[in-house]
Amino acid sequence: MSDSRALAIEYLKQQRLLGGDAVILPTSSPTPDLRPGSENPTAIPAALTPGASPGKTPTASDLPPAGLADLFAADPIQRAASLQDVATLVAACRKCKLCEARTNTVPGEGPATARLVVIGEGPGRTEDETGRPFVGRAGELLTKILEAIKLPRDQVFICNVVKCRPPENRLPQYDEIAACLPYLYRQIELVKPKVILAMGGTAAQSLLNTKQSLGALRNHVHRFRGTPVVVTYHPAALLRNPNWKRPTWDDVRIAARLLDN
Ligand code: URA
Ligand code: SF4
Repeated sequence: MSDSRALAIEYLKQQRLLGGDAVILPTSSPTPDLRPGSENPTAIPAALTPGASPGKTPTASDLPPAGLADLFAADPIQRAASLQDVATLVAACRKCKLCEARTNTVPGEGPATARLVVIGEGPGRTEDETGRPFVGRAGELLTKILEAIKLPRDQVFICNVVKCRPPENRLPQYDEIAACLPYLYRQIELVKPKVILAMGGTAAQSLLNTKQSLGALRNHVHRFRGTPVVVTYHPAALLRNPNWKRPTWDDVRIAARLLDN
């Protein structure tokens, strides 16, 4: 496939996810007569109806459910039907200022069938360069931690709270986290993991919507929309402070036990 064709396909895919069905509609699609007194004054143009197929008169089942659900149906992140769809939206995202200095977005990786979702803070340098999560030194340590509970890394969905690298690896700011969290929420909805492992304060506080310290959050099993959340140290912190390795192993074993239940 030529580069331009691949780009065009990617573009159309993004347009579809962004709600731009009209872009791919054939020009011959009928325009409903919306004038007062016309046969069907309340008809909604097919192009504005999520899920409607081109050229077809909308039926009741094409229409979004009434009320609040309309808002969700119109939200491209909520409409993302797969992890790849989420990644496509992330690749085009400019919702916060972290988009400005990024080389690549780092949406996360792993199978949609993963039983464990691991969440870090945000991409570092190597992650920004490669577009993959946890591939630097902290990532090597994460891989070893997962091996310790007999979970090959490729069976785990691994991602971060923010999908673009904060400059100089500074902490992500509140507005950046708020802008990016809907992608994480959708990823969790799609994977439906049995257990979530939040690594470090940013992941734990963002997911659990609390300002409590990591120390206070460890040693309890929390829940995110019903799914158990185990909180532990971030692997980068373990590289700086090896004394935390032992307690991290304890936390990760709790996660493993919950997985086996
Ligand atoms: N640290 C993180 O929080 N995430 C990564 O992907 C890499 C390092
Ligand atoms: Fe978008 Fe998240 Fe990147 Fe900000 S960090 S630009 S919200 S993908």
